[in-house]
Amino acid sequence: MRKLFFGLAMLAVVVSCEQDQSEPLEEAQEIQVDMSDFTLYAEDDGLTGKSADAAEKCHSMKNLAYRLEKNPGLAKKMYDIEYNTRKLIAAKKPNNPGGGNGNGGGGDGGTDPVYEGAVNIPVIVNIIEQTTGQVTQAQINSQIAILNEDFTNTNAGTINIPSEFANLVADVNITFTLAGVNRKTDTRSAWGTNDAMKSAANGGWDATDPANFLNIWVCEIGGGILGYAQFPGGASATDGVVIGTDFFGENAAGGIYGHGRTATHEVGHWLNLRHIWGDGRCNRDDFVADTPTSDRANYNCPTYPTVHCRSNDMTMNYMDYVQDDCMYMFSLGQNDRMRALFAAGGARESFVQ
Ligand SMILES: [Zn+2]
Repeated sequence: MRKLFFGLAMLAVVVSCEQDQSEPLEEAQEIQVDMSDFTLYAEDDGLTGKSADAAEKCHSMKNLAYRLEKNPGLAKKMYDIEYNTRKLIAAKKPNNPGGGNGNGGGGDGGTDPVYEGAVNIPVIVNIIEQTTGQVTQAQINSQIAILNEDFTNTNAGTINIPSEFANLVADVNITFTLAGVNRKTDTRSAWGTNDAMKSAANGGWDATDPANFLNIWVCEIGGGILGYAQFPGGASATDGVVIGTDFFGENAAGGIYGHGRTATHEVGHWLNLRHIWGDGRCNRDDFVADTPTSDRANYNCPTYPTVHCRSNDMTMNYMDYVQDDCMYMFSLGQNDRMRALFAAGGARESFVQ
């Protein structure tokens, strides 16, 4: 933290939001963060650009609204995480877009406030299947492999990234290791998105040590929903992501969503990424500077350029709603946002301690 404050003192001041007169000198020199655009709710249920395809594929914002209602302290917690994230990103040294954050990263001795080292996330898969063995080991292994591809920028689709976005592609340098599989059967066909599957008392699985494991629940969600995640700051007992059985790993039953990228999208939320269109109209942001503004989700496999809000949508980003084989990048700005969670005091710091 102390190192951070020295770095911060050298940076430009953004719009003032909060000031505490009692802070010591070095804290008083801290960069000021503009939180004026921060929101925890989707506008118009998240989808303003209606189309024939405008189904809500991911219920993370719906689940967040549900959790905010149940837990009055959650909004403040998430505000604080956002504030810390913005402060760390503002303090980050100017990045060399061509240099990227490759696998050799992490060698700069931790002088950068956003955590730069390699991160490994052990994964517990909590399966609730309708028949024993419905979710195969091959499916599980393929899901871990796909997460590893996407978070190390080795998705074969990257060759299709248009030149406009080519220098914004991030090697997130996060890897995933299968640490355990829990299985039980239950014939329920629609577990919904209010976390019933995360409770053994409800017939699901209790989370395993969420400070040290990413819990992935695999079950029938119902309603055509592919998955949902809990953002950082939520209750430990429900921390993790939920993926519909058909959309977990490589699975022909998932059709255009059968290549494991629902988990990539949901783990993006678990690492504090918002939908790329900001869950609202053109003036709503995803809190990432290098992703273009949009007012809607994109579906299927859009042609480039797809223009909304007077700029080309980054439709191939994992945080849009396109089909699995048409999403193949996180941006450098998203990378910083995720990595801020692993810095000292960050919401996911326990994974690198
Ligand atoms: Zn989502």
